[in-house]
Amino acid sequence: MDNLFEETKMIMKKYNIKANKSLGQNFLINNEVVENIINSSEIQKTDMVIEIGPGLGTLTKYLLEKAGKVLCIELDKRMIKILNDRFSKLDNFEIINEDVLMVNLNEIIKENKKNKNIKDVKIVANLPYYITTPIIMKLLEDKLDIKTITVMVQKEVADRLIEVPGGKNTGAITYSVYYYCESEKIIEVPNSSFIPEPDVTSEVIKMKLRNKPPVNLNHPKVMFMIIKSAFMQKRKTLLNALTNTQVFLSKEEGLRILKKLNLSENVRAENLSIQDFANIAKIISK
Ligand code: SAM
Repeated sequence: MDNLFEETKMIMKKYNIKANKSLGQNFLINNEVVENIINSSEIQKTDMVIEIGPGLGTLTKYLLEKAGKVLCIELDKRMIKILNDRFSKLDNFEIINEDVLMVNLNEIIKENKKNKNIKDVKIVANLPYYITTPIIMKLLEDKLDIKTITVMVQKEVADRLIEVPGGKNTGAITYSVYYYCESEKIIEVPNSSFIPEPDVTSEVIKMKLRNKPPVNLNHPKVMFMIIKSAFMQKRKTLLNALTNTQVFLSKEEGLRILKKLNLSENVRAENLSIQDFANIAKIISK
């Protein structure tokens, strides 16, 4: 592998690029981390990879060597020019100059899957940190026909994403990731692995989409609404949080439901398993 520090410096100088902080631009320069991302995404020739925020093309170059097709989605026009200069000769490279949150990924995946040579779709990205959560939620909630999501995110966010519900790093998003995926930590990444250095430590994580959710619900949306309400007032007990947000019509009703589910009246949202929230959702739906 090339010396990524030298290569990145050279590309930035050649195109007179200064990282745009408001676009979350921190370019990866650590060879070991790039190798880890590429290897852990287990890309096959029959895969299409969607890379979100390819930037200068550091990961893109190695993804193009492994995948049947790499479709990049990048917002910054300056990067489009660089990426086209570097890769447009390759016939497995395609780029879309748009905000990933505005792209209809379902349609893109459907279109590309018409190609008999593409079997699976995998997402790989060193994500722009200012929109990590909306991107992850989009990838999960749009119910995309994808196999895995391998992404670099802030360590603090990674801790919440890969936590098992009820564990010490549990947040509302923990339940969403757990509902849709099995997830694992790949590697912790120090700030010195980027130009410019971000203020936070990062982590690469891999989320593998489940074939079947871990809880059985006709209307999972109701459960996610309850989880959102519970975590909006995280410092309060679950009983108070769900009463204040009118998920429980009264405190008495809330107490009855908690008792029925063998949950203490002092329990807090982050102590509940996904099955506990699913049980509350089933009772509320009735
Ligand atoms: N992949 C490159 C790397 O690893 O060096 C760059 C990663 S950098 C952390 C995030 C990239 O996402 C930047 O290139 C930035 O321009 C791009 N980006 C920021 N917001 C975006 C958005 N809404 N849609 C698509 N790309 C975006």
